[in-house]
Amino acid sequence: MNTNKSQTYNNETLVLHADQEWAKKEKGVSPAIYYSATFSAEDSAEFAEMAGTPLHPRYYTRYGNPVHERVNKIMADLEGTETALVTGSGMGAIASTILALVSAGDHVIAQTRHYMSTAKIMDEMLPRFGVEVTVVEQSEISAFEEAIRPNTKLIMLETPANPTLVITDLEAVVKVAKKQNIIVVADNTFASPLNQRPHDVGVDVVVHSATKYLGGHHDITAGVICTSTKLAEKIWDTHTSIGSVLSPMDAWLLLRGLRTLPLRMERINSNALALAEFLEEQPEIEKVYYPGLPSHPQHELAKKQMKGFGAVIAFAIKGDYNATNRFVSALKLSTNAVSLGGVDSLVVHTAAMWEGALTEEQMKTAGIPANFVRYSVGLEHIEDLQADIIQALREL
Ligand SMILES: *Cc1c(COP(=O)(O)O)cnc(C)c1O
Repeated sequence: MNTNKSQTYNNETLVLHADQEWAKKEKGVSPAIYYSATFSAEDSAEFAEMAGTPLHPRYYTRYGNPVHERVNKIMADLEGTETALVTGSGMGAIASTILALVSAGDHVIAQTRHYMSTAKIMDEMLPRFGVEVTVVEQSEISAFEEAIRPNTKLIMLETPANPTLVITDLEAVVKVAKKQNIIVVADNTFASPLNQRPHDVGVDVVVHSATKYLGGHHDITAGVICTSTKLAEKIWDTHTSIGSVLSPMDAWLLLRGLRTLPLRMERINSNALALAEFLEEQPEIEKVYYPGLPSHPQHELAKKQMKGFGAVIAFAIKGDYNATNRFVSALKLSTNAVSLGGVDSLVVHTAAMWEGALTEEQMKTAGIPANFVRYSVGLEHIEDLQADIIQALREL
């Protein structure tokens, strides 16, 4: 089924035609949704083949489904990996990958800044199972090098990362890791495969929260793991036991989302860069964090490893917690909600996310100032977004 023919296509064509083999067979111009938990066999021989083949698309949907197979083909081609494995959430992809690849007695290196639930796996879960974890400052390659031990099995990366969009030099970490055959995993959610392809510089496993850009419409929760066939089969074996399965309907919605990904990313990248530049000019704004701005401390590195800089802009308002709350509440075009990378803009008062869990003092130590805003730029017209920000800044 995997002809690799589509590898000669450009991204815009690939997202529409990489799964043409399935389209030919099914005859539907729109993909069929296989809403079936289980699939029939002709005889014992076929049943044995279905039961014994990793990622079989027609055995039992927790193991695979024909709609998953189409998503997997497009995602593998987008990331330039041999294969891919779709999951029920981004965390399903990350948990399956890590739990499949490390065992008690192994050592893992992770970043000081990760998506909150990934940080929880590193800080709380892995130590419970006898896996040692060292977290390092991701902008310093020497920190990765110094953390390596004889039993280091895996390095977990994520770039750009919250809250200030710090960049990790993927190529440099891979170089350090390969001296000792350490598996490198990168969470590419904040970049998308259109803006950054970690496998091209040697990252072994690329994971995504497909809830964000890939689905792109704030409607589904999904994840994907892009890697070699060998590692995918190993991860799949754990994934089937963890059970983070994507429903056939949500896989279909993800497939639909992927068809417009290159087009959406183009607009998101240009809107976000324009908005970041605009924010930097506003006297009411203290500081803007965006890898596409020359003021970002790692702008040169970002330009080297990224084709575009994505939707997420972080900025600090000149004002306290209440002023920041007034600003966020006054915005009319960006919805006050978590998540990122969808068609419409979202905004979050970062400190409010943590208010229930941390004291003001703890937030300060964790580097979450009260005046921090995270903005995920959508597809609205840039002039409307700018005008909306101007009117909300008047509320300060
Ligand atoms: C959202 C997100 C996740 C988790 O994905 P879910 O689909 O919500 O499980 C992981 N990593 C990053 C960087 C994210 O933004």
